[in-house]
Amino acid sequence: MHKHHPLPHDVVIAGAGPVGLMLACELRLAGCSVLVLEQAADPHSPLKRLPFGMRGLSAPSIEAFYRRGMLDDIAARQHAKDGSGSSASNGAHWMQQPRRPAGHFAGIQFFHDDLDTSKWLFRLPSPAGTSMAVEMEALESALAARATAMGVEIRRGLSVDAFEQSDDGVTVRTGDATFHGRWLVGCDGGRSMVRKAGGFEFVGTDPEFTGYSVEVEISDPDKLRTGRHYTPTGMYTYARPGTIAMVEFDGSAFHRTRPITREHVQAVLRRVSGTDVTLTALRLATTWTDRACQATDYRKGRVLLAGDAAHIHSPLGGQGSISGLATR
Ligand SMILES: Cc1cc2nc3c(=O)[nH]c(=O)nc-3n(C[C@H](O)[C@H](O)[C@H](O)COP(=O)(O)OP(=O)(O)OC[C@H]3O[C@@H](n4cnc5c(N)ncnc54)[C@H](O)[C@@H]3O)c2cc1C
Repeated sequence: MHKHHPLPHDVVIAGAGPVGLMLACELRLAGCSVLVLEQAADPHSPLKRLPFGMRGLSAPSIEAFYRRGMLDDIAARQHAKDGSGSSASNGAHWMQQPRRPAGHFAGIQFFHDDLDTSKWLFRLPSPAGTSMAVEMEALESALAARATAMGVEIRRGLSVDAFEQSDDGVTVRTGDATFHGRWLVGCDGGRSMVRKAGGFEFVGTDPEFTGYSVEVEISDPDKLRTGRHYTPTGMYTYARPGTIAMVEFDGSAFHRTRPITREHVQAVLRRVSGTDVTLTALRLATTWTDRACQATDYRKGRVLLAGDAAHIHSPLGGQGSISGLATR
């Protein structure tokens, strides 16, 4: 039976990622009633934890969290997950280097001792630092806790699959349930259903590679060098015992077209590393690309886009979360 939820919210948000949750908090501060609909029933996922769920936050997002009084909570949740009282960044393989990494651009690493922050003229005065690494799970749990405490309704396990807008509102459908809002914001990620169904144009450049983040077991690990390596066919980073991130310039032919198997990952790793390394097990795997696109409009009538729904770029090109938090 179709369930109607007749009471309209001021804003319905599709997606409880970092951008949807941050936007929900900002709208509550402005006095709006907010409903967040999230397709995943469970907010936890191994891909949101170390090593692949690590997200480097840049200075403006750290400052935004500081100004909202959230920075300590985010850091505390991360420390509780570490169980060590140390920064999560210590656990990320790309942070385990003698010099303190500050970030990268297009895979080119730079370090804290390279930075002269006195030249950053547009920073607001604050004691917040300029770089921080946090797991997606810790970031989302801090934002969800704050949103809930502020009166945001978050419903999980509900995928927005259709909507219609009229002059004074938007009707949103998730399976057999219907919700009403004065506005709908698509914060539903790079493959946004709201963007596609809303007819938003998404323009940019085609991908050149498939990127892989994998956890594997290796029978002959000495054949790989630890750290980050650029090769004639791509790039790989390796941390023992079995954490690998790599890119292969295949024009993104593989990404989301076939299941990711041990045999395939081994073949790619052999091509990229120029070795005959052997993988005995594939424990965790995901792929990504360097496709770079932006919606030509962020609003059509009462439907808006924010975060990866509105713009995507290569994870090797800069911090996507901050671009998203900045468009909220
Ligand atoms: C390998 C990799 C490394 C990265 N590293 C960094 C980094 O170091 N720093 C950084 O800032 N960024 C990084 N990013 C990018 C960053 O993760 C994204 O920019 C950020 O997560 C975008 O947030 P979002 O809330 O817009 O979207 P998402 O995080 O994608 O969240 C979207 C949410 O919407 C939900 N959803 C999807 N469809 C629907 C639907 N139909 N109905 C309801 N809910 C739906 C999803 O389940 C999800 O919870 C990286 C990305 C990748 C792939």
